[in-house]
Amino acid sequence: MFIDVQVDEKVAGDPALAKKLAEVCPVNIYAAEGGRVRIVQENLDECVLCDLCVQAAPAGTVRVIKLYER
Ligand code: SF4
Repeated sequence: MFIDVQVDEKVAGDPALAKKLAEVCPVNIYAAEGGRVRIVQENLDECVLCDLCVQAAPAGTVRVIKLYER
């Protein structure tokens, strides 16, 4: 696993954001479940670093972390 995605708890319960993230990610790393954002762990490896999720969310609330750069 080389990528981790973090969604700030203060926005993770926003149904509109959950839906938006599920829509923008081309590899289905986000799912909207019960009005919350769920990170689909098994898809994390598919991340193409397109940054669409980061742009779709309020500034600083979604972070895509490249673990291999640590
Ligand atoms: S950077 Fe792109 S591929 Fe990676 S989680 Fe965000 S939207 Fe999905």
